[in-house]
Amino acid sequence: MSASGDESLWLLPRDEPCAPLEGAARAEVAIVGGGFAGLSAALHLKEERPELDVALVEAGTVGCEASGRNTGMLGPGVWGRISLLRKKFGDEVAARMFRASEDAVSRVVSLVREEDIDCELEETGQLQLATTERQARSLREDARAFASLGFDVPYLEKAQVERAIATDFYAGGLRFERAGLLDPARLCRELKRRLLERGVRVHERTRVRAISPGKPARVELENGALVADQVVVATNALTPRLGLLRGRVVPLHTHVISTEPLSHERRAALGWEGREGIVDARNFFNYYRLTRDDRILFGGGRPLYRASRDDVAAGASVASREKTWEELARELVSIFPALEGLRIERRWSGAMGFTLDRLPVVGELEEARGVLYAGAWCGHGVALATASGAAIADLALRRASARTTLPWIRGSAPWLPPDPLRAIGLGAYLGALSLRDGIDPVGERKKPDAKTRRREGVDFAPSRLRVSNPSMSKGVKT
Ligand SMILES: Cc1cc2nc3c(=O)[nH]c(=O)nc-3n(C[C@H](O)[C@H](O)[C@H](O)COP(=O)(O)OP(=O)(O)OC[C@H]3O[C@@H](n4cnc5c(N)ncnc54)[C@H](O)[C@@H]3O)c2cc1C
Repeated sequence: MSASGDESLWLLPRDEPCAPLEGAARAEVAIVGGGFAGLSAALHLKEERPELDVALVEAGTVGCEASGRNTGMLGPGVWGRISLLRKKFGDEVAARMFRASEDAVSRVVSLVREEDIDCELEETGQLQLATTERQARSLREDARAFASLGFDVPYLEKAQVERAIATDFYAGGLRFERAGLLDPARLCRELKRRLLERGVRVHERTRVRAISPGKPARVELENGALVADQVVVATNALTPRLGLLRGRVVPLHTHVISTEPLSHERRAALGWEGREGIVDARNFFNYYRLTRDDRILFGGGRPLYRASRDDVAAGASVASREKTWEELARELVSIFPALEGLRIERRWSGAMGFTLDRLPVVGELEEARGVLYAGAWCGHGVALATASGAAIADLALRRASARTTLPWIRGSAPWLPPDPLRAIGLGAYLGALSLRDGIDPVGERKKPDAKTRRREGVDFAPSRLRVSNPSMSKGVKT
């Protein structure tokens, strides 16, 4: 068992890793990081210039970090609620931002279809659901904002939600049509195959120690060096470990549990014929979905920022909290009482790259001129990162496009002070958001029914969800 619990469900079938890069090498373009963003950058650059000599170096295996640990919910969205996005950026920019995120979803769907990638893509749509009346009011306001900006994101009344999914847990919701589900690690592995077929040199188990910008730039490896005319860094939450975007891209760890496959009866009890991906409307929202073999992947809770002693400035790459997994298991049964007794077979966590202003960073790094960066998707990377190669290709080929004028096309992000101040500040901020999620105006909190009260109260025991994996009952080192 790894320090972050089990391995992600998606990462279990591994393919043969490509040989590491050792010694001195040269490429026209060097890409650092083999998650969605790095793979997408390589694919787009090769598509634009098939003759380009591209080398991609990955510390582990492709998709081993966030791209192989996420819940594979492909959906639109960036920054936060559309009503607030409008207030902050104005109607025109807010509309462009949301449209770009929708376009990213469409680009991923087209990529999968055109390349004939078997990654279990299902175009299911996505629901964002309110757990309280106050959230329902916010979602209604968002539906009006979407409509006035020209997007079709309808509000669903409680009864409509209950027709989509058999639970009375939610007060209402939004339906996003352009969204789906996929197996993210398979997408990464298949993209790697396509890159190899097109002549990209992929080197796994090849960690980059440092990058020296210049013409050419030098990428220092653990056992060698790669010299390149253009470097693209796609290391997301781990970027500060390279000495880049320190205090600007921060790793926040989010948790996931995965159940055993549902029996026919249990599956039928959930309704959920449309199999939509679901997120709730809290600050610390839960997100969940069905897999092809009808397991439920259920993620979320309060994210965790952990700085380890030997990596104080950058933040730890691996962190998890036992309590969060237990809370997720409890919430799952609160939403679907019919799942009582269901086995939780796996749980894991992974690091998302976050910025203080909750916008990604895609562009030429201010602190390392000539080096391009794509990362910090703030939880929206299945669509945004997988589609980001198009913008990286535009930037690398010095070509202006609508993609290169979005607010997240930039070379840096707001700065957070170093640890321990950062850890204290983030802890307080996350705590305040969590408190806000727990407090609604008096009388507005959704009243749980008697069964749910029992479950949430003294008589609830996590053991009601049977745990098949002994590691679930052990403490996990963080
Ligand atoms: C548990 C979880 C659930 C999520 N759920 C969703 C979801 O449902 N929908 C959604 O849109 N987003 C979700 N996300 C976010 C999404 O997974 C990420 O935004 C996305 O995968 C980021 O892709 P990336 O390529 O930028 O980063 P990563 O996938 O993290 O890739 C970075 C790569 O760089 C490599 N690397 C790092 N340092 C070095 C180095 N020094 N040398 C060489 N290689 C290096 C890493 O090994 C890694 O493979 C989730 C994230 C997590 C963790």
